[in-house]
Amino acid sequence: MPIYEYRCQACGTRFTQFFRTMGAAERAEVACPSCGAREVRRLISRVAVVSEGSVSPAEEEAASASEKPVVFGRKELQEIMRQREQWAQEVEAETSK
Ligand SMILES: [Zn+2]
Repeated sequence: MPIYEYRCQACGTRFTQFFRTMGAAERAEVACPSCGAREVRRLISRVAVVSEGSVSPAEEEAASASEKPVVFGRKELQEIMRQREQWAQEVEAETSK
């Protein structure tokens, strides 16, 4: 499941969006959650490992039917940021060898 980070070209807000599939991410029209502008630039992309078991088939179907990007709540965002920090530290440890 891809998670993309975007930066709004209009107001500079950085935000993270989660997509069900790579295809959904490519087709999605991403708008800034702060000002609603569609001039957003993708900053980074990486595939997050998320347990598929936590999603029911009904939710899966609904998600793929609408293909709307899911905006994370505060708690989920904090978790993503924590994981990314950990990941960055691992990369740093790896490259400093
Ligand atoms: Zn904006």
